[in-house]
Amino acid sequence: MPSGKYQATVRMPNGKRRTKTSRLKSVVKKWATEQEAKFEAGSRIDPRAGEITISKWREKVRAVSGLEASTLAKTDSLWETHCAQAWGAWPLNAVTRTDAKAWVQQLRQTRRARHQGRAVRASDKDVPTLSAATVHAAVHVMSALYAAAMDEDPPVVGANPFARLDLPPLDLGVVEFYEREEAEALYSALERLYGLQWRTLVELGMQVGLRPGETYGLHVGRVDRHRRLVHVTHVMTRAGLREYPKSKKSRRSVPIPPALLDAIEELTAGRTVGACTCPRVLPTGERQPGRGPCPGLMFPAEKGGPIDDGNFRDRFWYPAVDAARTCGKPPAEGHDFPAGECAGVCADPAHQIRRFPPKIMRHTAASWLVMDGVPLYDVQHLLGHESFATTQRYAHLAPDAHGKILESWSRRETREASSQV
Ligand SMILES: [Zn+2]
Ligand SMILES: [Zn+2]
Repeated sequence: MPSGKYQATVRMPNGKRRTKTSRLKSVVKKWATEQEAKFEAGSRIDPRAGEITISKWREKVRAVSGLEASTLAKTDSLWETHCAQAWGAWPLNAVTRTDAKAWVQQLRQTRRARHQGRAVRASDKDVPTLSAATVHAAVHVMSALYAAAMDEDPPVVGANPFARLDLPPLDLGVVEFYEREEAEALYSALERLYGLQWRTLVELGMQVGLRPGETYGLHVGRVDRHRRLVHVTHVMTRAGLREYPKSKKSRRSVPIPPALLDAIEELTAGRTVGACTCPRVLPTGERQPGRGPCPGLMFPAEKGGPIDDGNFRDRFWYPAVDAARTCGKPPAEGHDFPAGECAGVCADPAHQIRRFPPKIMRHTAASWLVMDGVPLYDVQHLLGHESFATTQRYAHLAPDAHGKILESWSRRETREASSQV
C-alpha cells in the first residue's frame, strides 16, 4: 500500500470481506493463510453427518460428556421437559435461527407445570410463565448440543442457531461478599483451629477467586514460583480429578499475591512430589480409580487423598465461620461480658461474622477487585467465568459505575447556576 504497510483481504464463506493491515508482510500473510484454512475446515462439513436427529445426537454427546451425575440429571430433566418434544425428531442441520427464535417465544409464554408447590391444570389462567432462568437453561441445553457438533473434526454443522438469541433478562439478585474485617477474622480462626493449609486454601478462594474444586485439585507442580502464577488446569469433582478442555475459560493461569506464595512455599517445603495418583475422570467420562494418597496434592485431606466438598463445608468452613471474631479473640463459651469488652476470649455477638456458604469466597474475590477499579474483563479472566454475563453481576461495584451519570448531572447543575447569574 502507499503507506508502506501490507494488507491482506480474504473473502469469507458468507461473501463478506475481511481485511488485516500490518507493517510486516509476514504477519498479514500468516493471517490470510490461517483464515483460509478456517474456511476450508468449514467447507469440509459432511452434509450427511448433519442429518442425524437431534435426539440421536444428544445421546452421543451425553455418553461422553464427563459431567457429574447431578449436572447430568438436571440437563436430562430440562431436555425432557422443554426440548425433546420440540426438537428431538429434527435433523441437526435443519434448524434455522428463525426456528430457534420461534421456540424461544413459545418457551417464554409457557406456563409453569407447578406453582407454589402444587401441580397446575392447563385451565389455571393465573399460573406464571417459566422463569427467565429456566428459559436460559433450556436454550443452553440446545446451544451446548450445537457447540459440540461444531467442535467435531470435521464439524457436523456449520452454525449454532441457538447461540446469542434474545433471551429474557435474568434477575440475578444482589451479590453478597465478606468485608475485609470479616475475611481477616475468618483467616485467623482457620489458622488457629486447623493450621496454615486451611487458611491458605480459603485465601486462594477469597483473593484469587479459585473454585473450591480447583483448590482441592491443585497440584504442587502447577505453581510457578518464579512467575508467581498458578496454572488452573484441573478441577476435583466427586468422581475424581477432571481436566478442563483447552477451549474453556476455566482453564487459565492466574497471578497470586506474594503473601500466599510464601504460605505455599512453607506448606510444600521439603516435600517430594512424585507422579499424580488421584482418581480421575477422563474426557470420555470414564472413571479411573486413584492409587493411594497423591503426593502432588497441594491441599490433601487429613487422611491424604483429595478433600471432599461436604467434609470441607461441615468440618472446616462452618466451624471456622462460627468461631471467627472480628476482635481477633477466640469465642467464649459459658462467659458473659458487657458488650464490646472482650478479655482473653470474646463474648460479644457483634464481633461475629455473617454466616455464608463457601461460594462467598469467589463473590468476595470478584467484588473486592471490581471495587478497587480492576476492569471486569480482567476479573472474568481471573475467575474463569465462561460467560461475561456472570462477571457483569459485579459491574455496579466499580468505582466509576455511575461516574458518567454523576458528571452529567453536575455539568447540568453548573450550567443552570451560571445561567441564573
Ligand atoms: Zn494427584
Ligand atoms: Zn470480641
